[in-house]
Amino acid sequence: MTELIQKQWTEHSIFAAVVNEKTEIISVGRTTVSQTNDPTAHAEVNAIRSACKLLQTDTLPAGYWLYSTFEPCPLCSSTAIWSGIDGIVYANDPRFRGSLADWSFIKCRTVLEQGATIHQVKLIENFMLNEIKNYFTRHQK
Ligand SMILES: [Zn+2]
Repeated sequence: MTELIQKQWTEHSIFAAVVNEKTEIISVGRTTVSQTNDPTAHAEVNAIRSACKLLQTDTLPAGYWLYSTFEPCPLCSSTAIWSGIDGIVYANDPRFRGSLADWSFIKCRTVLEQGATIHQVKLIENFMLNEIKNYFTRHQK
């Protein structure tokens, strides 16, 4: 997560990574929505796509986790369920949610709870807040 947060500070994009059962990073994704004219190219989706391509699978093996520098939106939370990710860890400061009114119109936690019949995904919310807390207020457009 430290590496992802550093990337966010220097490259000004939300970053996500898929990490294997040995906590090795196997793929990193950044948000490329405007660069690729792809509304689904969120950091988390990009990281999961890369991981699945690398492993030549549409369902990740047990023990893979998704790390993100922001709360995964409903699209990304659903992608995590469909990919078989075992857990999500995200860094986010809830104080910024008010300034991003349309962000996460359905909480990641809610999507994972609703999708648990398809695949159970563990969740660690608001991880490493001190490291990320000033990013969004300093870089708001
Ligand atoms: Zn997303």
